[in-house]
Amino acid sequence: MEGERDVTYLPDRKRAPEKLGRVLVLGLGKSGRACVEYLLAQPEGRVSELCVAAGAGNDDARTWAQHVQARGARVVFDCEDVSRLGDAFDVCVASPGISQFSDFYQSAAHASAEVISEVEFAWRESAAGARWVAITGTNGKTTTTALTAHVLKECGLRASAVGNIGDTCIEAVAAGATDVFVAEVSSYQLASTVNFAPDVAVVLNITPDHLKWHRSHENYAAAKWKVLANLHTVPGAVAVLDATNDEVRAKVREIKALSREERGFDYVPVGTASGLRGDMRAACGAENAAFVGDDGCLHVALRGAEVCTGAVSDLQIKGAHNQGNALAAAAAAAALGVPAAGIARGLASFPPLEHRIEPCGVVGGVECYNDSKATNVDAVLAALAAFDPARPIILLGGRDKGTDLEPLVEACRVHARAVVCFGESEPRFTPAFKPLEACGIPVERAGGMASALDAALALAQAGDVVVLSPACASFDEFSCFEERGDVFKALVRERAERAAGAATSESAAFESAATSAAAE
Ligand code: ADP
Repeated sequence: MEGERDVTYLPDRKRAPEKLGRVLVLGLGKSGRACVEYLLAQPEGRVSELCVAAGAGNDDARTWAQHVQARGARVVFDCEDVSRLGDAFDVCVASPGISQFSDFYQSAAHASAEVISEVEFAWRESAAGARWVAITGTNGKTTTTALTAHVLKECGLRASAVGNIGDTCIEAVAAGATDVFVAEVSSYQLASTVNFAPDVAVVLNITPDHLKWHRSHENYAAAKWKVLANLHTVPGAVAVLDATNDEVRAKVREIKALSREERGFDYVPVGTASGLRGDMRAACGAENAAFVGDDGCLHVALRGAEVCTGAVSDLQIKGAHNQGNALAAAAAAAALGVPAAGIARGLASFPPLEHRIEPCGVVGGVECYNDSKATNVDAVLAALAAFDPARPIILLGGRDKGTDLEPLVEACRVHARAVVCFGESEPRFTPAFKPLEACGIPVERAGGMASALDAALALAQAGDVVVLSPACASFDEFSCFEERGDVFKALVRERAERAAGAATSESAAFESAATSAAAE
């Protein structure tokens, strides 16, 4: 819909119109519902009409809809075309689950002056003085978001981790107890941003993913880079870019070619093409850098000052990829003016998150790890390298994403002690990994995850490591990666108890045999 409105903005917010007018919410997921609740709580007259367009609703959604309808919202289920609801919405807030390229989204775009994502809406509505750290990347968003919020809280700031993690952004804005929003922002959320301008934007890595939603890798990457689009409008804004990733490093080169004035913000490259030990100041004359120094410490150099934010060996999270996440969090905190000692304290006290290389028990001397969140090849490459020099026995399988397996086969050749393929993907995975047997790496096949764990434990000896890092979605056997991880942990617990019970009864039998022998 074309046409400009005369808009007056509330002076105490970032960019919130005094009158929101006719509002459309697209989709009834977690963020859609949170937006509706927020909009219903607005002062009289701010929202003149609130419509919700949703797909097929389940019982829970329909019960929820009855409640909000009683409070004045209009909810329409099985809505494929928004034009039947009218065509003069002032703003539409779209759920991240609805692709920009779908007919549903496009019909909303025709019917509304603008379509924005929930993070854009929440940012607009947040207090004028609030600060935002936006964290994106194909892998590592949740870890880095939780870590950054943890560091900032450790330093006494009122920070909240929001977005895919924890509360939705708009819930945290409504609660009003946050000064720094640390937002995990997906490409879906970023695709529908317009004015979103964080104080710090972190881009961890960009590798192929979510092709169905975005239609092409170019669209996916372009959505991610929108996180930098308005940085120049925020005084003192900083971009933190993990230069160990090829696609992110290409952007660093582009940005470096601009003058400070053309760019309008500072940037901190994390590592270089040679890895996290690379200092981009030395590598190509960048002004700032975050890297692992020769002293084994995490260094951040920003605006002429270099600080040490603790030792790599103090981190509880494993692997080079987590050192990269820690450097990104440290650089983000430094950009917000947090002192180095506080950053170091926060980094060292952060425990591994659930389902991300999470230690989950020891079965007869074999250490088990739950990395159920590793649903793509890149995350598994990170997990395999994280145990070096140990060679883990890795459990791969689930619903196949159809990704090229060659890099994973090669990484298993270098890092794995054995491979167990299971689940729906097993018929494609087993033949792909079978050639590893020629290098002395056993490749087993199993039905479901439980039998895969047993096959791994049967191969393992005391001192070995077993990791569920499946490179697949969970939906063939479970409802989500969290359920898969929870079941894995329960299986490990059960096998550990059984192994401990067997060891106890073996030693009891040994003791009673020894006592009888002594009596004779
Ligand atoms: P996201 O929220 O982006 O999915 P998570 O922090 O939940 O990221 O981690 C997802 C998976 O990716 C986990 O298996 C984790 O071990 C792995 N991972 C975490 N950080 C990185 C990184 N920087 N690069 C590659 N893989 C990573």
